[in-house]
Amino acid sequence: MESETISKVLYPNDNMTQGKILRLEQQFFFVSCSLQDMIRILERQNVPVEQFHEKFTIQLNDTHPSISVAELMRLLMDEHGMEWDKAWNITTHTFAYTNHTLLPEALERWPIDLFGRLLPRHLEIIFEINTRFLDDVRIKYPDDLARLGRMSLIDESSERYIRMANLACVGSFSINGVAALHTELMKQTVLHDFYEMYPEKFNNKTNGVTPRRFMVLSNPRLCHLICDRVGDNWIKNLDELHKLEAYVDDAGFRTEFRQIKQAIKQDLATYIKGMYDIDIDPTSLFDIQSKRIHEYKRQHLNALHIITLYNRIKANPNLDMTPRTFLFGGKAAPGYYMAKLVIKLINSIADVVNRDPDVRGQLKVLFMKDYNVKFAQRVYPAADLSEQISTAGKEASGTGNMKFAMNGALTIGTLDGANVEIRDEVGAENFFLFGLTDEEVVAKKAAGYNPADYYNSDPELKLVIDRIASGFFSHGNTELFKPLIDNLMHQDQYMLFADYRSYVECQEKVSAAYRDQDHWTRMSILNTARMGKFSSDRSIRDYCNDIWKVKPIPIQLEEYVQGAAVLNAANHFTKV
Ligand SMILES: *Cc1c(COP(=O)(O)O)cnc(C)c1O
Repeated sequence: MESETISKVLYPNDNMTQGKILRLEQQFFFVSCSLQDMIRILERQNVPVEQFHEKFTIQLNDTHPSISVAELMRLLMDEHGMEWDKAWNITTHTFAYTNHTLLPEALERWPIDLFGRLLPRHLEIIFEINTRFLDDVRIKYPDDLARLGRMSLIDESSERYIRMANLACVGSFSINGVAALHTELMKQTVLHDFYEMYPEKFNNKTNGVTPRRFMVLSNPRLCHLICDRVGDNWIKNLDELHKLEAYVDDAGFRTEFRQIKQAIKQDLATYIKGMYDIDIDPTSLFDIQSKRIHEYKRQHLNALHIITLYNRIKANPNLDMTPRTFLFGGKAAPGYYMAKLVIKLINSIADVVNRDPDVRGQLKVLFMKDYNVKFAQRVYPAADLSEQISTAGKEASGTGNMKFAMNGALTIGTLDGANVEIRDEVGAENFFLFGLTDEEVVAKKAAGYNPADYYNSDPELKLVIDRIASGFFSHGNTELFKPLIDNLMHQDQYMLFADYRSYVECQEKVSAAYRDQDHWTRMSILNTARMGKFSSDRSIRDYCNDIWKVKPIPIQLEEYVQGAAVLNAANHFTKV
């Protein structure tokens, strides 16, 4: 039973590392199995192991498999009798590294003693890689001790750690980020020294999502409409969605498009009624934030907006506002206390708002439990508004943003991750932008950010915070949300207070826009029509051309078509 844990327990942390021995054991286990299997395949084909790098490229998906740089060296030298230089040449022509985050707490580091107890030979190899690498750095940058310290594979600033991102950079011929902004920030910040030393290794590969799962499987009604007007080639070539732009002035098409969104929202409302016994108005604006719960993603900024609207109703019971349904989905890592407190806050707001007769059903709030991909496929197609509100500079790419927009949701978002490119594609007039830019975030922090200044100068923000702090949403308990409030008032490292007013004003534009249903539908159609770039087919093709030097395999549609029929008990696609 104990041996099975090596492939059983998936670590649930998101953008947070924990230096646990089982995690390292798992990383080593999967990496070693994969590399040995690749060598076995070569041997079966009578290809000499010297040609490993001509037959395989290995894309390191984050640093999690980066121990493979040392493991391939070990296999080539210790198991196949190769000299260091030859093995290192093969290794550095095999690996390519994709960076997925700039958050310092997510960068993997292993304490040297823990690492050495489990993998003593790999530690020896990493030390040797480091010695030779630092010689190269020294020759390129004589007398720059600070740079040597930053670039070393070993962090010696306090307790000694192995820096897995540095190992991945040194061992790889390509280093990429996952959105244009993320790649630029990666070059300017976490990997700046590596960029200066090896600028030719760096490139961008903006993420994509598969339209087979996130449109064909999950939204058969919309896909049927699209196929009816522009054929079905877009399923293999998403750029062809552009053809829909010709229908944006077609009133009949707009009506059908709107009716489909309405029917999907009705389906979700029915599902929610069955699951939670809550009545939600399917004609209200479905405002959805679904993603892992994390402070940088700022689900609590969304919560502050909900309380703002609620306070406005309480102050003016006759207020006529655009009815909204606020839906949240997502998991918190088990040990992430603040994330769990954010979930508690959302549920507590829901308990008050959903029951208050003054609200007259204009606001509904629901935290949907057990959010996973299968359920996500129901959620993305039902959204009117997609919440992509991370602090600028913190979200590497995001992919939920793409899934929502493909299905016709409009985005309210910051200039972060792939939001920047989504806005470029769909047009600024079809995107609700708010908040500080990444540069403004950095500048404000450098100038000494004091969140309490915002609290003191914005009465509406003050009332929101005071209501939470007073126990209004927690049965009078003033302790429950104190850690959250204290963090916001005294630190607020994700700058919710700095972005609050801009966010609330932008949400007012959203509410006004939704009242013009026909114009909203136009914007919605244009979002779907202009999302071609964000197909994973484009993303994979770029990896194939620029990094792997292979030809993509043709897309096989039939199995997805059958899958759609099974999953949706629908036969819309028999004609495809
Ligand atoms: C796409 C997806 C995500 C990623 O969402 P982001 O908004 O990009 O963080 C997370 N969970 C599930 C189930 C998804 O389908």
